[in-house]
Amino acid sequence: MTQEATEADVRAAVEAAEAAFGAAPFRPGDDAMRADLLDALADALAAERHALVALADAETHLGADRLYGELLRTVRQLEMCAELAREGAWLDPVIDTAIDAPPPYGRPDIRRINEALGPVAVFAASNFPFAFSVLGNDFASAFAVGCPVVLKTHPGHPETSAAVAKIAASILPEGALSVLYGTGYGANLHLVQARAIRAAGFTGSLGGGRALLSAIDQRADPIPFFGELGAVNPVVVCPEAANARGAALGQTLATGATMSMGQFCTNPGVILRPAGAAEFDDAFMSGIAKAPRHALLNERIDAGFAKGAETLKASPGVTMKDAMGHLVFSISAADFAASEIAREEVFGPATLLVSYEGEADLMAAVDALEGSLTASLHADPADDALADEIEPRLRRIAGRVLYAGVSPGVALTDAMVHGGPFPSSTRGDSSSVGALSLTRWTRPVAYQSCPARRLPPGLDDENARGLTRRVNGAVTRGPVSAHPAEQADDKGRMKTWRND
Ligand code: NAP
Repeated sequence: MTQEATEADVRAAVEAAEAAFGAAPFRPGDDAMRADLLDALADALAAERHALVALADAETHLGADRLYGELLRTVRQLEMCAELAREGAWLDPVIDTAIDAPPPYGRPDIRRINEALGPVAVFAASNFPFAFSVLGNDFASAFAVGCPVVLKTHPGHPETSAAVAKIAASILPEGALSVLYGTGYGANLHLVQARAIRAAGFTGSLGGGRALLSAIDQRADPIPFFGELGAVNPVVVCPEAANARGAALGQTLATGATMSMGQFCTNPGVILRPAGAAEFDDAFMSGIAKAPRHALLNERIDAGFAKGAETLKASPGVTMKDAMGHLVFSISAADFAASEIAREEVFGPATLLVSYEGEADLMAAVDALEGSLTASLHADPADDALADEIEPRLRRIAGRVLYAGVSPGVALTDAMVHGGPFPSSTRGDSSSVGALSLTRWTRPVAYQSCPARRLPPGLDDENARGLTRRVNGAVTRGPVSAHPAEQADDKGRMKTWRND
C-alpha cells in the first residue's frame, strides 16, 4: 500500500485530480459542500485518535502527549478551514460598476474575485505526522478553496500516513486527495513538473526545497512554490530584562528550546543575551539538562543533526557544551555577525547562545540575521530605548514578532502568520497557517462587462451569498444598488487638458 510511487503513479494521481477539478465539490459556489466534507474529516480523525496516535508514536518517537495535541490541532485546522470556506473572506470580491465618462475617470463594469488555482501538489513534513501531513493544513486550506490535492507523504511515517489516507478515502470523492508514498526524488520532481499541477506546498529542508524549486523553474510555465525551509527563530534578551528576571527567562527559554527535541519549525535556535548574564545562563543550562529526552524523528534527521552540529562546532569562535544530548553552542556577537555558518539552522536539540557586549555589538548581530518564521523580544521598560532600535529590525526579518513570548506554539487564528522572508519561506507574502493559508491556492480573476448570468457566485448584484464585499469603494454586505458608483464629473474631474 505504501510502495514507492513511480512516474506512472504520479501521472495517474495528477490525472485523477485534474478530472475532479471542475466537478462537484470543486465548482465555484460549492464552498459549503467542501466545508461539510472538511467537518466530516475532522470528526473521523477525532474518532480514530487512539489508533492514529499509537501508529505515529511508533514511527516518530514524538510521544503520545505531543501527538494527541497535534492531532487535536489537525482536527481544529480542518474545522477552521471549513469555517473559512463557508464564510468566504478568501474570495475577496470587489465590484466596480461602470462610470459613463471617458478614461481614465470613466470605466466599464469590472468585478474581481479569487478563484481556485486547480490541482496542487503538497509535500508532507517529517516533524508533523498529522498537522502538516495527509490531512494537514496544506491539504485543508487548498481543498477549502476548491483545489484537488496530490500529496506526497513523508517517508518518516508511512503507516500513519496510510491510516489517515484510508480515512480520507472513505469520505472524499475520487480525485480530491491522491496520496503517494516512497523516497524517490524522481517522483517528486515529476509531480511538481506535471502540467496540470498549478502550485506546490512544502515543509522540509533547504536542500529539498531548492531541488523542487529548480525543477519548477525548468517548467515552461513556472508555478507558485510555497516552501517552508527552516528558521533559527532568534530571541533577543535585553540587558534590563536579563538583570531583572534572568533566571525565569532562562528556564522558560530552555523549555521552549527542548520541546519535541528541538524539532519544531519555530524552535528558538539562536538566543542573543548580554555577555556575563550568569543568572540567565545557569537557569538555561539547568532547564536544558532537566528536559525530557527521546529519539529524533528518523535516521535522516539524526544524520542531518550530527552533520550540522559538527559544522557549527568547527566554525570560528564557537564553543560547545553537551547538556545530556542537547548541544548548547556559544559565540560572541561579533563572530556571529561574521559567520554565515553560525547563522544556519541546526535542526534538532541544539541552541546557539550569542553574547553581546553593548548596543552596537547587538545591532551588528541582529542585522546579520536571515529571514525567520518568528523573532522574539524580551525587554523591560528600562530597555525601551534599545527595544525601539531592535524591534523594527526584527520586523524586517520575521513573519511573526513575539513580545515577551516564547516559540514554539502556533495559534490557530485568522490573523496568524506562519511564514517569513527566505529561507523561512520561499514566499514571504504568504502563511501556511491561518486565513492567509487559503489564499495561497487562489488567484484573482476580473470579469469585465460580464453578463449577469455568467458572473460567478459572489459577484452577483444581489449578493445572494451574503459575502462582505467592496462595492464602488464601500465595504458592505448589501446589494450593488445600495452603493452607486460616484459620477466622474461629481468632483469636477471631467477635464479636457488639451483645451485648458
Ligand atoms: P527533506 O529531506 O527536505 O524532505 C522533505 C520532502 O522533500 C520529502 O518528501 C523528500 O522526498 C523531498 N526531497 C528532499 N530532497 C529532495 C530532492 N533533492 N529532490 C526531490 N525531493 C526531495 O526534509 P526532512 O526529511 O523533513 O528533514 C530533513 C531536514 O529538513 C531537517 O534536518 C531540517 O533541516 C529540515 N526540516 C525543516 C522543517 C521546517 O519546519 N522548515 C521541518 C522539518 C524538517 P522523499 O520523501 O522522496 O524522501
